[in-house]
Amino acid sequence: MIISSCLCRAGKNSTFEKHIEYKSERVFKHFEGIVIGKCSNCGILKTITPKSGIKFNPKQSRGEFYDVNKEKFVELFKPIVQLVKQYVDSGSVLDVGCSSGILLSLLQDEGFNVTGIEPNKAAFEKARKRLGYKAFRGTLKDFLKRKRVKFDCIIYNHVLEHIADPIGEIKLAKKILKKTGVLIIGTPNTNNIIFYLRQKYWEPFMPNEHIWHFHSKYLINLFKKLNFEVADKLFFDDMRKDYPLIKRIYFSTLSTLNKIFNTGEATLLVFK
Ligand SMILES: [Zn+2]
Repeated sequence: MIISSCLCRAGKNSTFEKHIEYKSERVFKHFEGIVIGKCSNCGILKTITPKSGIKFNPKQSRGEFYDVNKEKFVELFKPIVQLVKQYVDSGSVLDVGCSSGILLSLLQDEGFNVTGIEPNKAAFEKARKRLGYKAFRGTLKDFLKRKRVKFDCIIYNHVLEHIADPIGEIKLAKKILKKTGVLIIGTPNTNNIIFYLRQKYWEPFMPNEHIWHFHSKYLINLFKKLNFEVADKLFFDDMRKDYPLIKRIYFSTLSTLNKIFNTGEATLLVFK
């Protein structure tokens, strides 16, 4: 048993059983020593901060990666742009952890008044180039010390799983979300067939960066406790376009199963 803080006890300690342990893996060698615990109270999977010397960095940013693969991400961000257009006619959008600002520049092109917050220096500098003074460096807490405005839409896209205290974060976001506003949350989703089969080898797991490994139903429940109701839920699978043919057939079969069970490797949730 491992003692660590958990979301089910409002940040207080819970007991975790060892669920996955990265030993000397042929692939993912850099994950060696990382332990994923399962909370004995609520069942969430959590990366238990490993001993020093192991590379665990939840503040890692993919700004560079986003920019090099810009076209791919423009494609990936399209469903988010669609959701924003569907739920917010016009108005202001805040992207917390906006990285290099690609998503916000797409929303800006659609006429939204955008603001981005990014703690990572290199990613922020890219966002600043792209968005000018609409990009702020820091966390939401830092931003609120300087500005108090309300937003029609707040986005956390693949950010919440990196934050040690996501409940405190959402409570903060709620304070600056208009009454008619929506929260859009994108995270990897462990509630899918590909994760059940691949476990520690599941590509979106990223145990060296993600603290929390969310399950879509768990997230919906968590937000219910914070007085949000789910307005929409979408699921996506990784296309693995650069995999060899036989592997692509294998994964597309699993992907079909995910679709039958109305789930996927990543989820996009809209909360009101
Ligand atoms: Zn728990």
